[in-house]
Amino acid sequence: MSHVLVVEDDPVLRNALVRALRDKGHAVNTAASGMAGLDAAITDRPDLVVLDLGLPDVDGARVLRMLRAVSDVPVIVATARDEEPEMVAALGDGADDYIVKPFGAAQLDARIKAVLRRLGLPDGVEEPLRVGGLVVSPAAREVTLDGRTLDLTPREFDLLAHLARRPGQVVSRRELLAEVWQQPLGGADKTVDVHLSWLRRKLGESAQAPRYLHTVRTVGVKLTAPGPEAP
Ligand code: CA
Repeated sequence: MSHVLVVEDDPVLRNALVRALRDKGHAVNTAASGMAGLDAAITDRPDLVVLDLGLPDVDGARVLRMLRAVSDVPVIVATARDEEPEMVAALGDGADDYIVKPFGAAQLDARIKAVLRRLGLPDGVEEPLRVGGLVVSPAAREVTLDGRTLDLTPREFDLLAHLARRPGQVVSRRELLAEVWQQPLGGADKTVDVHLSWLRRKLGESAQAPRYLHTVRTVGVKLTAPGPEAP
């Protein structure tokens, strides 16, 4: 999976990008200016940054140079057609790839996956995880249950994928908070429970009549395939 930061000052384009990338299964953050983008690229620790070169305060090229002084986060610069010299300079300054406006969502998604793969970062290559009739595809960020696609939020997806990587094993709430919510010092167990209950509903089951998601009281939760002898 990937968490993408979009730095783009044009609100229409920015919102279109967010929708398109979320549809492709990415978690998306945004920034509307160069300084906000630099700040978010450092503090939010995205997997990849899509950086517009033409920004109102600090242009994208300078943002990229400042970012490269402190971070290796992959960057794809978005350029206008007449900005070829700027694009070439950005590649020299450490951009991993570029994309020329206007571009479609599928093209950007393909570039993002290609960059992450080339850098050996997790995305696009993990095989689908199968637990009973449940298939979790980390590459496509897609889940099907008995062949039917489920509509999950990014967080629900991450939660389910984390459990699906270790089917049959009890995973603690603390681990889930650390791995799925990036809260290594713990947080509210309720957060996990609330998301589990949403996930259950989408899986068509309940805590009282579990099929895949089994809560083990005070310990955690496990994902198992419903067996023929399951109650
Ligand atoms: Ca712009």
